[in-house]
Amino acid sequence: MEGRIINGFLVVVIIILLLSIYWFIPFKTTEFDLESNSNSNFSVNSYESTQLQFYENMRFPDKKITYKIENCPIKRKKDMERALEIMEQETILEFYPVEKNQQITITCEETTKLEGKLFIAGEGGPTNITIAGNFNVIEAGKILLMKDSECERPNVAIHELLHVLGFDHSKNPKNIMYEISKCDQVIGEDILDFIEKIYSIPSNPDLLFEDAKASMHGKYLDINFSIRNNGLKDAGESKVKVLANGKEIKEIEIPEIDIGYGRKVSIANLWVKQIDVQKIGFIIETDFEELDKANNRVSFEIKK
Ligand SMILES: [Zn+2]
Repeated sequence: MEGRIINGFLVVVIIILLLSIYWFIPFKTTEFDLESNSNSNFSVNSYESTQLQFYENMRFPDKKITYKIENCPIKRKKDMERALEIMEQETILEFYPVEKNQQITITCEETTKLEGKLFIAGEGGPTNITIAGNFNVIEAGKILLMKDSECERPNVAIHELLHVLGFDHSKNPKNIMYEISKCDQVIGEDILDFIEKIYSIPSNPDLLFEDAKASMHGKYLDINFSIRNNGLKDAGESKVKVLANGKEIKEIEIPEIDIGYGRKVSIANLWVKQIDVQKIGFIIETDFEELDKANNRVSFEIKK
């Protein structure tokens, strides 16, 4: 009788032991293949942009842009303000004067510059550009006005402002972006259309996965991924959920990510209770709008 109890007890102990080996001790490695990584379905035709701009798809983060005019004689200050006004009338852009942390800095110089045989009336361009996916995001720009405008319309100031907005010179002498300024030059329709198009894209962040990997050894999951912000605005805090066979097994807090930046996440030995794991998934969850939500998930299936 006593022997039977001991035998029964032993069997239970052995079963528990075998189960724990199955559950806790890695004995089989499972590699997972990326099944889907839906890339951004958002795209802008960059052909147009490369024709008109210094780099592809250049724009400020928002259509509301701040500026400050420093040390300019009254005439040139008025020219610049008029140029900003004209661009506001012609486009969806809005310009706001601020005292500090301006995006566009406008300064003046009393003496005109002589470069080669050309009198330089002004200089302008972006001074800080961040690459974020499809965009070259202009964070700051500078204009130097060296001459009062001789035209009824402040063509030099508009020309320099368009440089700051990312636009390159035009080969057409009738275009305001022609290298040499003339009073009868006009702002090209293609420039106005492009501004309309690129600033119609809302100023949102866009988080997505890069270099996502998953593998299992026994009941343990190792994961690696980068999460990047390819949008037009700094992203607030977000979460990444890790799924096994569609069930959430882990939630990871992701801190804020600035435009163009990314964060690497790597977690080893995540214990997975599901038996026979066929699919692993990662999902980014945010409580803010994004340019594209379709690129917020990746899924993996067992390598065959
Ligand atoms: Zn120029």
